Amino acid sequence: MHVGVLKEIAPRERRVALVPDSVARLIKAGDTVTVERGAGAAAWFSDEAYVAAGATLGDARSAGAADLVCKVQRLSDGELDAVHSGAVVVAVAGREAAASPETLAGRGITLLALERVPRSTRAQSMDVLSSQATVAGYKAALIGATSLARFLPMLTTAAGSLTPAKALVLGAGVAGLQAIATSRRLGAVVTGFDVRPAAAEDVLSLGAKFLAPEAIAQDASTAGGYAKELAEEQQQRVLAAIGGAIVQSDLVISTAAIPGKPAPRLITAVMVAQMKPGSVIVDVAAETGGNCELTRPGETVESHGVTIIGPLNLPSTMPMHASQMFSRNVQTLVDLVRKDGKLMLDMNDDIIAARCSGGSAR
Ligand code: NAD
Repeated sequence: MHVGVLKEIAPRERRVALVPDSVARLIKAGDTVTVERGAGAAAWFSDEAYVAAGATLGDARSAGAADLVCKVQRLSDGELDAVHSGAVVVAVAGREAAASPETLAGRGITLLALERVPRSTRAQSMDVLSSQATVAGYKAALIGATSLARFLPMLTTAAGSLTPAKALVLGAGVAGLQAIATSRRLGAVVTGFDVRPAAAEDVLSLGAKFLAPEAIAQDASTAGGYAKELAEEQQQRVLAAIGGAIVQSDLVISTAAIPGKPAPRLITAVMVAQMKPGSVIVDVAAETGGNCELTRPGETVESHGVTIIGPLNLPSTMPMHASQMFSRNVQTLVDLVRKDGKLMLDMNDDIIAARCSGGSAR
């Protein structure tokens, strides 16, 4: 099977879909791999490392002419021109995918959309949402720590004693739990919140407090383990339950998300106005509109002395490890579609079917 790796062209995208270690594993399994020159450079994986792993270097045309073409972000029309009919593209399809399954089907190309992940144990090693959310949660905690005008840990020094910062993490999925673990390691007093009943135990297991168990919605989870959009009355109950803790926090990291929907609004402008000057909000949900009413995606704004940070594509800011994890997810998926050395899509396999279907598995 011929595997191609394309260089990312989106602004500020520094990740690469396959790192040299994965390329070596694919070659050991019998594949040939063509990597577009410079594909790994922004994540600090050199062309020489790919060659040492057994890959051939090429341009976008030769890498795109493979049986299976790997990229982090969806392919542009220009890139698709190199992909031949019958080939498979492995990438994150994105919401306004130009390279939608329908467009691709017209060209005889199949898209395996990496973000359509059945939440099963078998699919876990191919789950780019989880691996990249881990990076996002970690980085959000660090951004919060470095944006505050105070320490996170308690300090007792000859120059006086300093109280620890209070951090509140809203949304305790993969990113939220990583943000909780990281800010706890840095010494903050951490509280977590989520509407899914199962999340409370996860938060407590990390040594953080769980805020407002009464605001948990027993019917908030889908069969896949994700949250559902709350009814207006439930949403108001949540805001009333968490508002007091938000205004007392030094650092709020918000990660609440609902698949396929805008991020739920959990931090209102009124709450921000009541927060202590010098507090910081890191809104990891900025990409889908933000959990805070005042978030401007991709920007840092200040309101009433509160800094509101709306970072985009956090995983790309740690491209080396983000790519390493992404690449392992992709490599496991490539292993799944190789049968006797040839590309074969088994539509009876739920992982393949979910990614090919054009609908979300969520
Ligand atoms: P996500 O990114 O879709 O959402 C982040 C969090 O926001 C979720 O925990 C969600 O409950 C929460 N949320 C939504 N609306 C909220 C609101 N109004 N207030 C507070 N919080 C709100 O979710 P995710 O991180 O991808 O994972 C969700 C669940 O799936 C977790 O339980 C996770 O452990 C599980 N999961 C399972 C697998 C697997 O089985 N393969 C893989 C990854 C994650």
